[in-house]
Amino acid sequence: MTPGFPIDYVGVQWDGDASGGAIRFQHGAQWGPWAELTGDGVEVAGTVASGLVWGADAAAYQVRLPVGAAQPRAVAINTTDGPPLTIGAGPGDAAGAAVSVIRRSEWGADESLRFDALGNEIWPTAYYPAQKLTVHHTATLNGDPDPAATVRAIYRYHAVDRGFGDIGYQYLIDEDGRTYEGRWSGTDPDPGHDATGLVVTAAHVGGYNSGNVGAALLGTLTTQGPSAPARSALESLLADLASRHGLDPMGSSTFTTPVSGAKWTGPNISGHRDWEATECPGGALYTLLPAIRSNVAALMSSTTTTTTTTTTTTTTLPADTRPPVISSVGAVNVTATSASVRWSTDETSTSRVEYWVSSATVLSIQNGALVTAHDMKISGLARRTKYSYRVSSTDASGNTATSANFSFTTRK
Ligand SMILES: [Zn+2]
Repeated sequence: MTPGFPIDYVGVQWDGDASGGAIRFQHGAQWGPWAELTGDGVEVAGTVASGLVWGADAAAYQVRLPVGAAQPRAVAINTTDGPPLTIGAGPGDAAGAAVSVIRRSEWGADESLRFDALGNEIWPTAYYPAQKLTVHHTATLNGDPDPAATVRAIYRYHAVDRGFGDIGYQYLIDEDGRTYEGRWSGTDPDPGHDATGLVVTAAHVGGYNSGNVGAALLGTLTTQGPSAPARSALESLLADLASRHGLDPMGSSTFTTPVSGAKWTGPNISGHRDWEATECPGGALYTLLPAIRSNVAALMSSTTTTTTTTTTTTTTLPADTRPPVISSVGAVNVTATSASVRWSTDETSTSRVEYWVSSATVLSIQNGALVTAHDMKISGLARRTKYSYRVSSTDASGNTATSANFSFTTRK
């Protein structure tokens, strides 16, 4: 497919329940490698939709569908090169708001996408008391150079191509820790809520959306955890929401959907996969949820309670400010092109190896899973070459330790 414009993103949908498929992009005369199509977990019964795949301004793309995929449809999206939209000033944040949110008018939401050709709102708003907070990832690229453009692409994909009439999350957070307003919630100054503090219904967990607040981290957090700023912004947002809605961040309870009466029992701060079969919010992020709940509780207990709007929240440092202790660093199973770097830490923490040849560029691999026995395989190495390396680990509270430099030499 050649859409005739530089491709920022492609999303693919089909009918049925077949999963799999792949996509590749053409830059100049070169076709890139096939990449697997994976879902973002925002499902509509009877259809399968991929997450948006980054095209990096490709000229063309090809899609391989799984067996049994019916009525395939693909959409290429460009949200960076069009004419600038003229958008009226939107509402500002409420005075004293604990979390600063980039409003729809600020990230460039084209509000006309929420209306049909006759001017009717496709998905009218409904509001309920918030009972659950659910964490997602968007299954889009990591290291995103233009997150606001990604938010616009997800909005367009959900609102138009998937027919929702708006974006499915109430909040989105980028890797720099900026929080974006998602689902439209009226003209009052409170994102995600109406003027009385009820939460707007969005579409992020099948069958359980009323009273359920969805916060999505941009990126694919399956093997790589969130950036420190993104995680911190998520914890602040969850603390603010839990505090406003009287939810115990460490608690678990039965949630009854106000629209159908369906019941679900689970944590007040959940991951999407707690609700239904989906990879979302990614294994690496999901593993961090217990630590995130603890940090949210710590943020809430250190927040000054006040009845005026002139005092902002104050936070103290979390109790754990001690980095993990790294020991037993070594390279094993060194072959001509690969090596495994192993080390131990005295508390569970993430794994990162930086490696380099003399003065060449430093490369790195990482794993966001929290472990004490670290084992990271480096491949694609040059033969009979001396590599220097060092390792680092970050604990659940964000404290990082880095080792001294070591080296190994690959075989010939
Ligand atoms: Zn999700």
